[in-house]
Amino acid sequence: MAINLYIYIGVCMETNIIDFYNDKNGYNSCIEALKYGEIVVFPTETVYGIGANAIDKNAVLKIFDIKCREKDNPLIVHIADKEISKYAKNIGEGTYKLIEKFWPGPLTIILEKMEIIPYETTAGLETVALRMPNHQIALDLIKESGFPIAAPSANISGRPSATSAKRCFDDLNGKVNFIIDGSQSYIGLESTVISMVNDEGVILRPGHITINDIKSVIPNAKLYGRINDKFVKDKPISPGLKYKHYAPKGDMIILKSDFKNIALYIKDKQCFYKNIGVLCLRENYKFYYDFSKTLKNEIKIIVIGSRDNYLELSRNLFESIRKFDDLGCDFIVSECLCDDFSNAIMNRLLKAAAHNLITL
Ligand code: AMP
Ligand code: MG
Repeated sequence: MAINLYIYIGVCMETNIIDFYNDKNGYNSCIEALKYGEIVVFPTETVYGIGANAIDKNAVLKIFDIKCREKDNPLIVHIADKEISKYAKNIGEGTYKLIEKFWPGPLTIILEKMEIIPYETTAGLETVALRMPNHQIALDLIKESGFPIAAPSANISGRPSATSAKRCFDDLNGKVNFIIDGSQSYIGLESTVISMVNDEGVILRPGHITINDIKSVIPNAKLYGRINDKFVKDKPISPGLKYKHYAPKGDMIILKSDFKNIALYIKDKQCFYKNIGVLCLRENYKFYYDFSKTLKNEIKIIVIGSRDNYLELSRNLFESIRKFDDLGCDFIVSECLCDDFSNAIMNRLLKAAAHNLITL
């Protein structure tokens, strides 16, 4: 099988999008590729993952090369059952409670690693990140391959995570052989990450499962204090926190203000930018639409969802940011979607805007 030539001799490979439900041969090729230590992109309920055998260090290193991911940024190991003692040790009571309540699901748990997990997967750390995804294709792939699958988000590092096969293709065409199409990701944001080393319960990355959800099982759980820091220069507890994330091609800002001030701000910015985009709630669309008609250059308006529909907002966030790129926007103004910055959507939005938030 002619796979992954790209890695070794820089040749662009053919990227196939596999229809899981109608292309049994294609799906079997994916399993074979994984068994050969190659890469397969697959859907999960959070975002798409770019996967390789988590216990094969050479396979795992290919993920870093393809994504251009820093080698000190560890990968999440995806498993298909709750048998974590094969991969982690010194597991406390709290961990079992979390697994019982939230797995399969969008919760990644950090624990002390067993020897079987190579340092290439954990970026040199003594801990491993484990998750059982709630997605039939992901679970089947792991079971049928016969090993856990390490998989970060299926995008080039720094870009918004991919939530559909098409968006994976946009970033990874020519770099991977297989992308399994499982339609749009149900949640659209990466998993909540919690450290349970010493059974401590520290949330390192907010996600669909909130601090309050976690507290219903572990009352003493807390949020890591630097979750929304702009720069984490010294050694962070979770290496991924220090990297640039989710950025669109244009400059982006989050504005906390009323319509009148936002309108003035946009008008002013039209002296500097040719193609301004606005990310707004459905409730506010009409205002921007009418305002756009008064401008000499119309603005591109993308509705992320309705204020009260959290799932709609999370599902559309990364796709919306990528759409501004499709529309060629050189400047993007986002409404402030929520005042709670421990909220996963605001955490990602802040990172996408490089922490550019202004209150007018
Ligand atoms: P991604 O797969 O890109 O969504 O990123 C996974 C993130 O999980 C990393 O960027 C880290 O911040 C975090 N992570 C993974 N493994 C560990 C670990 N062993 N210790 C702390 N954080 C981890
Ligand atoms: Mg990622």
